[in-house]
Amino acid sequence: MEFDASRARIDHAAAVVAGGVNSAFRLGIRPHPLVFASADGAILTDVDGNRLIDYFLGMGPMLLGHRPPAVVEAARAQLDRSILVAGQTELEYAAARLLVELVPSAELVRFSVSGSEAVQAALRVARAATGRSAVVKFEGHYHGWFDNVLWSVAPDLAKAGPREAPVPLPGSGGQMPDPNISVLPWNDAGALRERLAAGDVAAVIMEPVMFNSAGILPVPGYLEAVREACDAAGTLLVFDEVITGFRVAPGGAQQRFGVVPDLTVLGKALANGFPVAAVVGLRRYMDLIADRQVLHGGTYNTQSVAMAATLATLTEIRDGAPYRRIDKVGARLMEGLLEEFAAAGVEARIVGYPAVFQVRFGAVRPSDFREAQRADNARYADFAAALLRHGVRVLPRGTWFVSAAHEDGHVDATLAAVRAVLAETRS
Ligand code: PMP
Repeated sequence: MEFDASRARIDHAAAVVAGGVNSAFRLGIRPHPLVFASADGAILTDVDGNRLIDYFLGMGPMLLGHRPPAVVEAARAQLDRSILVAGQTELEYAAARLLVELVPSAELVRFSVSGSEAVQAALRVARAATGRSAVVKFEGHYHGWFDNVLWSVAPDLAKAGPREAPVPLPGSGGQMPDPNISVLPWNDAGALRERLAAGDVAAVIMEPVMFNSAGILPVPGYLEAVREACDAAGTLLVFDEVITGFRVAPGGAQQRFGVVPDLTVLGKALANGFPVAAVVGLRRYMDLIADRQVLHGGTYNTQSVAMAATLATLTEIRDGAPYRRIDKVGARLMEGLLEEFAAAGVEARIVGYPAVFQVRFGAVRPSDFREAQRADNARYADFAAALLRHGVRVLPRGTWFVSAAHEDGHVDATLAAVRAVLAETRS
C-alpha cells in the first residue's frame, strides 16, 4: 500500500497546523501521519483509498468499533433535542447510574471531557482530603499531558538515576518544576512503603495494568500491597483506568484484580469516541466536590450529544454482548500472532487481554519500565511500520486494541499480513 496522498495533505497542512497534526502522539508515526476519509466497524479508509484493519481504535476508545449503530443513533437523535445546556439532562444521571453499577469504586461520579482533566480533579480531591501535597507516580506511567503528572513517562534512562529512586524527568519543554512529585519503580511494594512512611503523600496514582510505555501486569499481590500501604499511610489510592476501564473487564482492572481504589479516572472506552471522561470514587472523598470544597468545572462537561453516546455505550457494555465477541476474536488473534511469531522463529510475548494487549519482541519478562526497555522495541516498531503497508494499523509501541466490530475475517487477514511481513524480514 502507498500513502502518498496522506503525505501530500500533511505537508500542505503543516503551513497552518503545527506539525500537520493536533496531538503530539500523532507525530512520529511511520512512514508519516495519515489522513483519513472515513471509518466503519474495524476498518479505516484513508485519503489514498487504502482500507486498513484498525487496532489503534482511536488510541483505545472505540471498544464497540467505529460508528456502532446504537451510539450513532443515540447521538443523532440527541442533536434534535439539545447540544449544550449548561445544566443537567436525564442522560448524565442515567449514565452515572450505570457507572456506579459497573465500576466497584464508583459511589459518586463527576464527568469531564478528557482523561487529563479528570486526573487533575482526582489529585485535587486527594490533596484536599489529606491536607497533603505530595503525589507518587510510577516510571513509565502516563496520566495526561498536564505539568504535574508529565514526569518520567518515557525518561532517558541515562539521566533517570537509580532504579529505586528515579529522578523525576519532565516530559516537555516549558513544563513547570514540581517539588511535590515523587517517581517510583512500579511493581515494587517495598519502595512504595518506604516513600509513604514520610507521611506527606496525598495520592498514589497508577495505571493498574501498565499499557502506555509497555504492557506489564501487576505482579501477584502487588495491588493488594499498595492498597494496604496507602491505608496505613493515610494516602489515597488513585487508579488511572483511562485505558484499562471497560477493556480489562467491564468494571476495569479494579474488578478483575479485586482491589478497590479510593478514586478512579475513566475515559476512552467510556463513550466510544466521544470526548468524555470521569472521576469517580468513594462517597467520602467525592463529597468534597459535592460540598464545593474542591472545584471541578468545565463548560463542555456532560455536553448532551456526548452524554447520549456515553449512555448508549455503557448500555451496550452492561449487556455484556461486546465482551463475548471481543473475548473470542481477541483471544484468537493473540493465539494466532504467537503462532506466526513462533513459526517465523521470532521471540515474542503477548501480555494483556483480548480487548487490549501488548506484543513485545525479545526474551524479557519485565515488571517495570526499565526492564521493558530491554525488549527489542526498535524491531517491533519496524514490524508495525511494515504491517501498515500490508493494510494493518497497529501502534508502534506494541499495544493492540480489539473492538466488538472485529470479526474472524479481520483476524485471518491480519495474520496473513503478519505472515507476509515476517517472511519479508526473514529473506
Ligand atoms: N491516563 C491514561 C492511562 C492514558 O492512557 C491517557 C491517554 N492516553 C490519559 C490519562 C489522558 O487522557 P486524555 O488523552 O483523554 O486527556
